[in-house]
Amino acid sequence: MSDTKNHSNRHKKRVIKEGLRRLKNKPGWDVGSKGSSDPREGLRQLEQQMRGNQVYEKTQNCRDCTRARRESADETALCSEHLAQAMGLGD
Ligand SMILES: [Zn+2]
Repeated sequence: MSDTKNHSNRHKKRVIKEGLRRLKNKPGWDVGSKGSSDPREGLRQLEQQMRGNQVYEKTQNCRDCTRARRESADETALCSEHLAQAMGLGD
């Protein structure tokens, strides 16, 4: 059980890290340009953005996202697919 959760969290962190790295290369993404190099701060801002994000709305009905939230006890958790979409990395 816990192995699955740990794997999931590790995967999520890797996806987030990759997403943040790509976002920094996008115009308009100001994390880093204001002197903040803390990835946790970037993630917090990202989660705030996602609250009003259309992709985030869709995840309310996603079974994988629901499971990710339950497993991580984080109401902003997303499955890897929707996480990528929320960060503009999806199709
Ligand atoms: Zn999802």
